[in-house]
Amino acid sequence: VCELTAGLQIGVLAVQGAFLEHEKKLAELDVSSVELRERKDLDRSFDGLILPGGESTVQGQLLQELDMFEPLREQLQSGLPVLATCAGLILLAEQIENDDHRYFRTLPVTVARNAYGRQLGSFHTEQTMDGIGPVPMTFIRAPQITETGEGVQVLAQVNDQAVAVRSGNQLAMSFHPELDHDLRIHQLFLEMVSSR
Ligand code: GLN
Repeated sequence: VCELTAGLQIGVLAVQGAFLEHEKKLAELDVSSVELRERKDLDRSFDGLILPGGESTVQGQLLQELDMFEPLREQLQSGLPVLATCAGLILLAEQIENDDHRYFRTLPVTVARNAYGRQLGSFHTEQTMDGIGPVPMTFIRAPQITETGEGVQVLAQVNDQAVAVRSGNQLAMSFHPELDHDLRIHQLFLEMVSSR
């Protein structure tokens, strides 16, 4: 447990998808989660945000229906640190190649949904991530990052293609760090949050 990050409160979007797994990682790091399920949960105080994997279209629609989209977008625009995985990356992306929906658009990348072919829809690998070292990576019908804009740092690649990026306080990846036995990506995010 790290003294700097213990005691932080992290909002975890909990309308759909793999939010519990992120909460477990945070608990292992002695950090409490604030589950964001409805509009009034956004009034609670949290130092950072996690956008979990799941189904981006469903999450986007629920965010609108629950009146959570605009307030979250404003917080992201004003620099709230965010860790986004898989569907969460799609919600942040400025452009989505193969979908007409657009969501927060705060991260200057282009993604393609479900872009790892049917056979390889789900796979596991291990690659080096900048500042961390080799990390396990589980991909589940993951989006591909097909372009990165100005100020976007590529932190990891698989087959010469970016799978983890950082831009300012936004850390986003195609894979699911919450599904592997490794805390270092969550730890990196918490360090970003505590140094804000
Ligand atoms: N295929 C999902 C989407 O397009 C993302 C998959 C995931 O989050 N595991 O939203």
